[in-house]
Formats: sequence, structure tokens, C-alpha cells
Amino acid sequence: MDCKRLAELLFGDIKLTMEDILKKYPRRVLPDKAEVTRFSPSPTGYMHIGGLYAALISSKLAKQSGGVFYLRIEDTDKKREVAHGTDEIISSLKKFGVEFDEGAAADGQPEKGLYGPYRQSARGEIYHVFAKELVEKGLAYPCFCSAEELDNIRKRQEAEKLDPGYYGEFAKCRGLTLEEIEEHIKNKDEYVLRLRSPGKVGNRITCRDMIRGNIEMPENITDVVLLKSDGIPTYHYAHVIDDFLMGTTTVIRGDEWISSYPIHHQLFEVSGLKIPRYAHIAPIMKLDGGENKKRKLSKRKDPEASIQHYFEQGYPVESVTEYLMTIASSAYEEWRMKNPDAAMSEFKFKLEKMPVSGALFDTDKLNSVSRDVIAKLDEDTLAKMITDWAGVYDETLAGYIADSPEKFAESIKLWKYNGKKTRKDVARWGELTEMFDYIYKGMPQSRDFDEKIPPEKRSEFLSAYIENYDHSDDSSQWFERVKQVGEPLGFCPNIKEYKAAPDNYIGSVADACGILRAAITGKRSSPDLYSIIKLIGEEETLKRLRSSI
Ligand code: GLU
Repeated sequence: MDCKRLAELLFGDIKLTMEDILKKYPRRVLPDKAEVTRFSPSPTGYMHIGGLYAALISSKLAKQSGGVFYLRIEDTDKKREVAHGTDEIISSLKKFGVEFDEGAAADGQPEKGLYGPYRQSARGEIYHVFAKELVEKGLAYPCFCSAEELDNIRKRQEAEKLDPGYYGEFAKCRGLTLEEIEEHIKNKDEYVLRLRSPGKVGNRITCRDMIRGNIEMPENITDVVLLKSDGIPTYHYAHVIDDFLMGTTTVIRGDEWISSYPIHHQLFEVSGLKIPRYAHIAPIMKLDGGENKKRKLSKRKDPEASIQHYFEQGYPVESVTEYLMTIASSAYEEWRMKNPDAAMSEFKFKLEKMPVSGALFDTDKLNSVSRDVIAKLDEDTLAKMITDWAGVYDETLAGYIADSPEKFAESIKLWKYNGKKTRKDVARWGELTEMFDYIYKGMPQSRDFDEKIPPEKRSEFLSAYIENYDHSDDSSQWFERVKQVGEPLGFCPNIKEYKAAPDNYIGSVADACGILRAAITGKRSSPDLYSIIKLIGEEETLKRLRSSI
């Protein structure tokens, strides 16, 4: 067949050559071992936690090696696109500290970088130049099979338990003559462009995966679609050309793509392009039902799959990224233990240390990481972060802050410190108003008294305490007063003495404090009670004590 003529027939309007394009995209000049990585989402606006995870790793790898991290928008599927989807992606990643060196920009903004356009929808001509070249070399051909014909092929393959795909005897259009093709084109019949796969049954290829090591797989033998009937490339084809031209050194993507690797390997080969390294990352999973029933975090079923969830819940972004790093690298936690105050950017990340099977998303672990992160933040930073968050997500808290910013600042000290020690109660801002409802909401709705002290004894003590209350007490006077009031009523002022003969008493001074704590806060445990009293003030304290009797 005269492939040149076929190429002209299909791509008559394409005048540029592959060489012209290659000239426009010179190889990058970067330090040795510099990594060029990318994040290449569809502009759906939705950011999955797995996307953030991949972006974080890709960006880290580029930054630590003096390379480039860029954003490419894979918008070849118009059905999935939403308005401002790209803006959403850029701004939410930015909140997590992930920024691009180059690539697609928010709508209306100019792109940064010399390797664009960075939106696939703007790269149509480039794909066609490469496709034309494949046709000229006899490595691609038009396929006019209807959806119905393809469906029949699929059904037959299913029934006969054959591998799916367009290959061998099923690849009907592979053998069309130039005349037959011309006839179809004259009739304006719809067609897709397919690869004429040089693959052979029985041949094997190796994927040298940066995380998993070598993976052997059968060579691709199917004549996959390169350009859809509207001329838009498939993911397979577009990513090959883009990653090559944009100089990607390592493609970091979800492991659902491993099975398509043989196609990609072959596409690079037939196009004469150097294949980048690949790193297929395991998805983030959750337990569903039974002990061992793991499944991927699902956009549809799991609110925690969306990064919006973490904003809403009020996790500091550092907590989320810190936690994701603990999943991403088996070396991270040890490093963090040795370097508690170092910036995450100082950690040297290695793909080889990534898990090969899906890590479980563990909210308890996230909370524990977050408590550590929060414990390290100073009060001013905390105040600012919480105020910003509450303004969007928590009306009650925002109201409290607006009414008395000074009291709010005091309240942070109250739950942050225990004397000189730092407390680690808070994992996210969303739990503040419940955990400290006695500060941010007011009078407790119920009181969790320890039933060990009979109610009448409790009331007796509370009444006596109110009688003797003096708001000007300092913290040690305050404690002395609890002892003094309690002792005649059977509360032993000395814990040791009480423990030696508990039957001689109603309780100890600790029980007396417990009564006051529950009366004032509703809870059995809280940060320093004296500080709480000082914060809520005399009037409110007495009101709560009275109402609790
Ligand atoms: N656009 C592809 C996706 O959203 C990206 C895969 C890749 O990174 O190559 O799954």
C-alpha cells in the first residue's frame, strides 16, 4: 500500500512534520539526575485524596532533584470536564503547599513554561503530526468498524474466552486496500485511527517500575485506538507524545495503568521516542465490611476520598500532607522521629520506599499525626488558622471569636498547655466546639458526674463550695479552698491518706474537683479547671455551679 498517499488522504491539512515539532520542544537542560514529573488530571474539579498523594510525591521528587514539576490538563474527554475544574485543582493543591513550576494555569491566566500548550485540547495539531507519521510508516490505519461490529467482536471473544481487543482475525480493517479506504472517505464514513501493532503472541516485555521493580508482561498485540472518530487522541496516545515532548523523566501514576503499560511501551517504540521511567503507585484503600475486605477509597461512596472533606473537618493542611508522607514512604516516620522540627522538604524521598500494595487510610493515625502537628504550632498561628476556618465552616465558633477575640486567644492557651507541658487533645478544628463546648457554647447541656459520690453528698459539697467561693483566689488558693470545703463533708484532702483508708471517706479532694469539673464543664476530664473558671468568669461559674445542683 502507498502509505504516503494514505497519510495525505487522512491528514492532508497537516503540513508540519515531526521534526518541526521536535525542534520546538528542545530537550531540557537540567542538572544530572533532575526529575521532571507531572500531575495530569482531567479537569473534573474534584480532587481525590489519591490525586493529592500523587501530586505531593511527584512534586517532591522534582523539587529535591532540582527538576521540574508541571501541570498538564488531560481534557480529551469533554464529558468529564466541569467549568473551572482546572482552577479548582490548582487552588486546592496550592492550599496543600503543592505548586507547579510550569504548566496549565487557571482559566484566563497565561500558562508558564516552554513546553505547552499544557492542555491536551490545545495540542490537537501535535497529535495529528505524530499520527500522520505513523500512517506514513505503515504503523497506523483507519478503522471504519461500527459500534455494533465492535460489540459483536467483544461478544464473540467473551463467549469463546478469548483475549479482548482488536487483533488478528478480528482486526477487519487492518487489511483494507487504499481503494477501499478512499471509498469510505469519499462516503464520509466515520473512522478511528488504529495502531498497526507489531506485537507478537508469546513475546514478553519488561516494565521497569521504580516502585515495584521489574514486571514482565505479554507484549501488546491489539490495534488500539490512537485517535477517536473526532480526531481527539486516546489517553494512551496523548500521554506518550506529551510526556516525551514535555521531557517527563518519571511518569508517576495510579497502578490501574500497569495493565496498559504494554500498549504504552509499544507506542513509544513505534514512534521512535525514548520511554520515560514509570512509577505506579498503589491506591489508598479503606476497610469495607470484613477484616480483610480492602477497597479503593471511592469518590462516590466515601466522603474522606475528597480533599474537600479535610478542609471541612478542619485539619491543618500540614497534618494531611504529613500523614500522606507516612503512607508514601516507609522511611518517613523514622526520619520524623529523628528530625521533629525539620521541614518536610528536608526529607529525601525515594520511590523505592513506596508501598506496593494499597495502604489503608487510617483516620486514627491521621488524627494522631495531626495532634502532633497542632502541638507544634504557636498560639498566634493557631488563632489565625482557626479563625479562617471557622469563618467558613463553624458559625458557633466564628461567633465566639468575633464576640471576644481576647477570650478566644486565652482559650487556645488553655487547651494547648498543661502547665509547661503541651497537651495533644486537638486533631482538627471541627472538634473544638464539641470538645470544649463549655468554653465555646456555654452552659453544659448535661453533666457526667461520677456516680461513686451519692447525689445528696454532691449537692451538699456544691452548696458549701458556692457559699465559700472567692473568685480572686489564685490557683493554689483555689485548690486549698476546695480542700477546706471538702474536708468537713468527708472528702479527704490528702490523696495518700485517702488511698490508705478509702472506707473512712466519701471521697478525696480529687473527687471534689471531679464534682466541680462536671458541674462547670459537664465532663469528667478537661484541661486545667482553674484556668477554665478564670476564662468563663465569676458570674458564669456560679451560674453553672448553681444550675448543677
Ligand atoms: N489523566 C489520567 C488520569 O486522570 C492521568 C494518568 C497519568 O498520570 O498518566 O487518570
